[in-house]
Amino acid sequence: MKLATYTHEGRTRTGIVVGDRVIDTGVESTMIDLIRDWEALKPGLEARAAGASADDGVPLASVRLEAPVQRPGKIFAIGLNYADHIAESNMATPERQVWFTKAQTSVNAPYARIEIARGTMTADYEVELVAVIGAGGKHVAAADAPAAVFGYCVGNDVTERMWQHAGPQWSLGKSFDTHAPMGPWIVTADEIGDPHALGLRCFVNGEKRQDSNTRHLVFDIWQQIEHLSVGMTLEPGDCLFTGTPGGVGAAMDPRRFLQPGDVVRCEIDGIGHIEGTMVAEG
Ligand code: ZN
Repeated sequence: MKLATYTHEGRTRTGIVVGDRVIDTGVESTMIDLIRDWEALKPGLEARAAGASADDGVPLASVRLEAPVQRPGKIFAIGLNYADHIAESNMATPERQVWFTKAQTSVNAPYARIEIARGTMTADYEVELVAVIGAGGKHVAAADAPAAVFGYCVGNDVTERMWQHAGPQWSLGKSFDTHAPMGPWIVTADEIGDPHALGLRCFVNGEKRQDSNTRHLVFDIWQQIEHLSVGMTLEPGDCLFTGTPGGVGAAMDPRRFLQPGDVVRCEIDGIGHIEGTMVAEG
């Protein structure tokens, strides 16, 4: 099932995406609540999707899609997790997982504009598979981790490279406003099947910059969940950015950072795409 958060006629709600239409779930709650109550809600929503007629809901084209989880309790992202990206970054393959946070306030809608912050010129893109936590938990063994995930969406781990490398840890450079576009919806884990076999690509103005597959993750998603849940309880709606492949602008020669007007499209097989235009911060 595909689940979206969308705004239509001034009201933001959750919906089931069927074809090119979105059907209100009728659940008066946010995506986080919906995920938390999923086991109880799932049969009814599945029946609703299966029984949808061609004119149920409203056309996707008539709504504004929002980030599926607008205020995740936690957003964590793993660095240096594809071999080709590690090589282009002139780094050694980490023996341990390298994690940083992205602020809640960096969350952005899937087709919204992305800001190039005042006084910076080093905005960069990173297409990533985002795992959205469902049941979550603490001390989740890798073998049990699939049951902790609710579903997946496309993310762009937009990065201000200057600020990323201004100190020994990266969180500020990864947390600028608008720098966590996600969406266009969550595809539930049962529909994705194996999340480690998905092609993912990033285009800037139609030029392909990144093209890889999640099979190339250094630490897979189950290892990631085991690692993070050693100390933190993973909760419904928490978002994990699972790493980006090679091809980022900072690694090009010469380096090519994003400019106002650039259109950045990130796509993942089996999910869809997100696309944002870069703008100078107003
Ligand atoms: Zn990243």
